[in-house]
Amino acid sequence: MEKPKSASEPRREAGATPDFRDQIATADKEGRRKWLYPNKPKGRFYRGRTALTWILLVLMFGGPFVKLHGNPLLMINVVERKFSVLGVIFWPQDNLVFALGFLLFLMGIAVFTAAFGRLWCGWTCPQTVMMEMVFRKIEYLVEGSAAQQKALSRAPWTGSKLVKKLAKHGIFFALSFVIGNTLLAYIIGIDALNKIITDDPRMHLSGLTFMALFTLIFYANFARFREQACTFICPYGRFQSTLLDENTIVVAYDYKRGEQRGRVRRKETSEQRLNRGTGDCIDCFKCVTVCPTGIDIRNGTQMECVNCTACIDACDEVMTKIARPRGLIRFASLNGIETGEPIRVTPRIIGYCMILLALCAGLVTLLLTRSDVDVSLLRAPGALFQSTPEGKISNLYLLKLTNKTQREMPVELRLENVPGTLRVLGGELNLPAEKQSEASVLIEIAPQKLESGNTALSVGVYSASKKVETIKTIFIGPRR
Ligand code: SF4
Ligand code: SF4
Repeated sequence: MEKPKSASEPRREAGATPDFRDQIATADKEGRRKWLYPNKPKGRFYRGRTALTWILLVLMFGGPFVKLHGNPLLMINVVERKFSVLGVIFWPQDNLVFALGFLLFLMGIAVFTAAFGRLWCGWTCPQTVMMEMVFRKIEYLVEGSAAQQKALSRAPWTGSKLVKKLAKHGIFFALSFVIGNTLLAYIIGIDALNKIITDDPRMHLSGLTFMALFTLIFYANFARFREQACTFICPYGRFQSTLLDENTIVVAYDYKRGEQRGRVRRKETSEQRLNRGTGDCIDCFKCVTVCPTGIDIRNGTQMECVNCTACIDACDEVMTKIARPRGLIRFASLNGIETGEPIRVTPRIIGYCMILLALCAGLVTLLLTRSDVDVSLLRAPGALFQSTPEGKISNLYLLKLTNKTQREMPVELRLENVPGTLRVLGGELNLPAEKQSEASVLIEIAPQKLESGNTALSVGVYSASKKVETIKTIFIGPRR
């Protein structure tokens, strides 16, 4: 048996399909789609996934209805460029927070994948959760077991087949509509979605278009595209070969224990099987028939594997039946199987965690020191300086303010480094909660107080007598 060189390197033991990396399980040699009919898994991991799925579904569908401080729990409103995370509103001006948050997200994926493989994919990814734990279960309910589904597909069209297909696709479409609306609620907020649903449809044509579009996309994905989304579209699966190493915990087949494969002989005991040089794998293909991506995990870690653990449950059931210990397929690292060593924390994972911690600290610091208002004060475009009848020099500015808090804020501007007058045209500044405002500002300074033709100005922004921000700008005057 040839020893594998890395986690992504295939084992070449007897029984492994020699050309499994040259083809995919869901297409034939001509490239035509091979429709998968995976058997329904059963076992402790499947029960665990079912319990987790209920929690995730409540979070996923209940999320848009939950509000903190009057704001959505999570809202990614790219249209109005307004984002809410845990009830805190973020604006595009919070670009540093976004950049660091995104870096943290990428590092989190890298660290998590390096340590635990694609556990996310099989257990928490919305695509797998909805496909395997919701849509697939509906399919079993309406069309029966995998074998019955296959038989139904091949059967000629009859009244009963038509009813089953219509029922299944009707439920799929209704569910896709709910999922599409949920996604829309995460983008525009539940209040805006309610308006689209309850108002005159002519007022919300774009909203209704997106509603229909999302529904059709989700329906096409869950009814037809299915596992192809994980294999061909999702970039995460492609990344994994660069993130996994020999110490990564993955769903793995213990080839040392399983090979050589051999069928069970009637009335043969386990000892007799072992004595004739046969491993624990009885080549029953149960692990293959439950796999939602159609692969044979005995060939080694593969890009298509989403770590759903269905094959573990299937094999454990077989092992129990032939009176052998469970875990021929289990969560393990390649090194763990090769050497029998326990799972190790590698220097790479420690390094990733250090970076992750540093990024977390940076993000927390940024959030804690995040200013309540975002201000910019720029000279009005095209405006030159003016001389006033009192002999002063005046400059006109455009003031832009964003109130990031959930309360109205009275704001006052004060010249800090040069004596002069500052007037907000149009009266006092009262910033509505979570809104952006604009105003014109006129600054007048006596010419003798100016250092040069371009004087740097420092303007303090105060709210309730407390300084919340300092802005720098330039005051233009006559050249000296
Ligand atoms: S389910 Fe277990 S025993 Fe059966 S083929 Fe798969 S690995 Fe071998
Ligand atoms: S190989 Fe096993 S864990 Fe991987 S996708 Fe298939 S059934 Fe799930």
